[in-house]
Amino acid sequence: MARGGSQNWSSGESEGRPEEQAPEDTRDKMVKETQYYDILGVKPSASAEEIKKAYRKLALKFHPDKNPDEGEKFKLISQAYEVLSDPKKRDIYDQGGEQAIKEGGSGSPNFSSPMDIFDMFFGGGGRMARERRGKNVVHQLSVTLEDLYNGVTKKLALQKNVICEKCEGVGGKKGSAEKCPLCKGRGMQIHIQQIGPGLVQQIQTVCIECKGQGERINPRDRCEGCSGAKVVREKKLIEVHVEKGMKDGQKILFHGEGDQEPELEPGDVIIVLDQKDHGVFQRQGHDLIMKMKIQLSEALCGFKKTINTLDDRTLVITSKSGEVIKHGDLKCVRNEGMPIYKAPLERGTLIIQFLVLFPEKQWLPADKLPQLEALLPPRQKVRVTDDMDQVELKEFSPSEQSWRQHREAYEEDDDGPRAGVQCQTA
Ligand SMILES: [Zn+2]
Ligand SMILES: [Zn+2]
Repeated sequence: MARGGSQNWSSGESEGRPEEQAPEDTRDKMVKETQYYDILGVKPSASAEEIKKAYRKLALKFHPDKNPDEGEKFKLISQAYEVLSDPKKRDIYDQGGEQAIKEGGSGSPNFSSPMDIFDMFFGGGGRMARERRGKNVVHQLSVTLEDLYNGVTKKLALQKNVICEKCEGVGGKKGSAEKCPLCKGRGMQIHIQQIGPGLVQQIQTVCIECKGQGERINPRDRCEGCSGAKVVREKKLIEVHVEKGMKDGQKILFHGEGDQEPELEPGDVIIVLDQKDHGVFQRQGHDLIMKMKIQLSEALCGFKKTINTLDDRTLVITSKSGEVIKHGDLKCVRNEGMPIYKAPLERGTLIIQFLVLFPEKQWLPADKLPQLEALLPPRQKVRVTDDMDQVELKEFSPSEQSWRQHREAYEEDDDGPRAGVQCQTA
C-alpha cells in the first residue's frame, strides 16, 4: 500500500484523496456548534486553506459594494471568519460554541469591523489608509488551471467612481458648498431609540443629507453632471495579465485605479484569482496530482498510457516489465507539474496515483480459475477444525446505521478513528 507516501499531499484536500483514506478524512470533527462553519459553508474538519477560500468567495459576493442589502450577512461572514481563522479562537469555539467566544475571557465579544477584516484580507491597509485614500475595488477573476499553466490576458470591465469632470469634484458652482443643515457639519446624526422601559440607546449613523461629508451643495447650485456627488460612476476596462504559475487566491494590483474621491489619493484595484476545479488535475503548490485507472492486467503485466497536459501535449508513460502496480501506488514525472511563477521554464512534478480496476464478479468461468491460480502466488490454506465457528460473510455498506453507531462509539476514545478505518479496509 502507498499510504505512507500519499499522506502529505492528500491531507486537507476534499477531492482526489486516496480512496482507502476517505473514512478518516471525511470523519466529522466533534464540535459543540457548527453555526460559524455553516455560515462559511465548510465542514468543521475544514483546513485553514479551505476556510480562507470560503471567506474570500463569500466576502466578495456579499460586500456592501456589490450587495448593499446584505450588510448583516457580510457581518456574519466576517465574524465567522475572524473566529475560525484564528487557531486559538477556533479551538475555543469548537469546544464551547458561540457562548464561549462571547465570554472569551474579557467579557464582551470584540469582533473587528467587517470592513477591517475585509481590508486586512485583501490588502486594503485598514481604516487609517481607507480614510486618506479612495476605496479599493476588489474583484474576483475566474480562471482555469489551463490559464494558470499557460498564462492568459483577460479583459475586465469595472465600475468605479471618478471625479466629475464638469465641476472638477466640487459638486456645484465654486463656493456653493455650505455646512450641512441636517448634521450641522458633523457628518453624523444621533438617534435616540427606546429599547425598553426607561432604557434608551444612542445610535450614531452617517448623515443621510451629506453622506458624512459635513457639507453639502445647495440644491439650486448642484452640478448637472454628478448631481452634487462630486464623483460619477464610470465603466473602466482593465487588462489583467495572468502569468504562468500564478495560483488560486493570488492578487494582482492595479495601483491607483480604484475609486477616486476629491482631495484623496485614489484607491487600488485588486484582482483576486479564483481557480475553477479541474476535471483531471489537482494542484498542490508546484505539483499536479492526477488519478489514473488501470486494469488489473495492466497492473500485473505492464502498460503504456497517455496523458494530455494542460498545454495540450501528449505524454506517454510506460511501466517497466515485471513491475506490479498496486491500488493507490504513486508514481511521478519530473518537470511536468505547474510552471513556477516568475521562473516558468522550471516546473514542479506530476504525481500519478493509480487506481486498479478489478474485474467484475464471475468474469472468469469457474473451470478456468485453476489456470489463473496456477500463475498467481499461492494462496494460504487453512485447516478447519471442529472447535472453529463457520460464519457467513456478507456484503457490507458503510452507510448502514449499525456502522455509524459503531463508529461514534469508537470516536469517544483516542485511537477510535484508526480502529474504524482498519475495520473497513481489512
Ligand atoms: Zn450632514
Ligand atoms: Zn459634477
